[in-house]
Amino acid sequence: MDHMEIRTEIPLQQYTTMRLGGTARFMASATSVNEVRELYNSAKVQGIPIFVLGGGSNVIARDEGFEGAVLLNRIKGFAVLTDDGQTATIKVGAGEIWDEVVKRTVAMGLSGIEAMSAIPGTAGAAPVQNVGAYGQEVADVLTELEAYDSLADRVVTLDAAECGFSYRHSIFRGEASGRYCILSIIIKLHHAAPKPPFYAGLQRYLTDMNITTFTPQVIRDAVMAIRFDKLPDPTERPNAGSFFKNALIESWQLSELREQYPDVPCYDMPDGRHKVPTGWLIEQAGLKGALLHGMRVHDKNALVLINESATSYHDLAAARDAIIQAVYDKFHIQIQQEPLEI
Ligand code: NAP
Repeated sequence: MDHMEIRTEIPLQQYTTMRLGGTARFMASATSVNEVRELYNSAKVQGIPIFVLGGGSNVIARDEGFEGAVLLNRIKGFAVLTDDGQTATIKVGAGEIWDEVVKRTVAMGLSGIEAMSAIPGTAGAAPVQNVGAYGQEVADVLTELEAYDSLADRVVTLDAAECGFSYRHSIFRGEASGRYCILSIIIKLHHAAPKPPFYAGLQRYLTDMNITTFTPQVIRDAVMAIRFDKLPDPTERPNAGSFFKNALIESWQLSELREQYPDVPCYDMPDGRHKVPTGWLIEQAGLKGALLHGMRVHDKNALVLINESATSYHDLAAARDAIIQAVYDKFHIQIQQEPLEI
């Protein structure tokens, strides 16, 4: 496609919200499946890898840069496929801004993703890490998605089961990493009022504000107020949202942990494991608010690392490793980085 502009030596700092890292050898924006296919085929001929980038809010760029082509997914589209007054299915282009989708569906009175308000990034990136917040996650609403399968050189439809969703995880960042470029997602939402019980933090806000009537818009407004208070704006203070996943531990580990720390917060997972908030672990390790190698552990949410004065991925990695080690030394729990790396 000769109208597709392929740029060279692009600083990845400008395309990732952490604002660190080296350059991409090639970069191109794709607005259609044909452009996606075109790019994969020319990369195949040249023998170089492709990395699909949405908003860059959950991706960290390494200092050595990327010796391949970055595909900026800019495929648009928002179409209501069915709406019977109770349930609506909506097809969304992968390059749409996720929060614009939430805003639009909430304005239609639909429930299902309102608690996932104000999450940065694109709709196509949302299934990759099975984005979630305040008890809602993408896996609950996604019925299927369309993707370009670079192995088979064709467009495929994957249903939710085929996406292999689990806690902040899917095949797209696991075993099928690099294989698919997500083109669109189909979500199923409901014309229904959100129902309590809500996550403690959300309920606290609703109680404080004396809110007792719950609509998707009410929940969206509440989540946005909480997030704006607790999370740094990436355009002002570079960050990638939660930098660590919450820890999932086995029952025996929890019993051991409770012997020493009886007040450890913990939530039971459907698979029998237990989720311990990593923000709590980092705080207990004494690192909330700390400045490590130019990276600030956010003082309102220790899960978030802010790039205050780091100049390289190397600095970030040193800070990350120091935090992982400190948590391990104290709790014998190995915490994991959430953002992907290019
Ligand atoms: P919080 O309310 O301080 O709670 C700390 C952690 O405890 C959360 O991460 C949450 O896990 C877990 N939790 C709290 N109540 C729970 C319940 N009723 N059932 C199961 N787990 C519960 O959390 P926060 O850091 O302010 O974040 C609030 C929400 O926004 C969370 O859902 C969080 O995941 C989401 N968020 C995500 C990102 C990101 O970049 N991925 C960034 C900011 C916030 P879960 O994380 O599993 O929900």
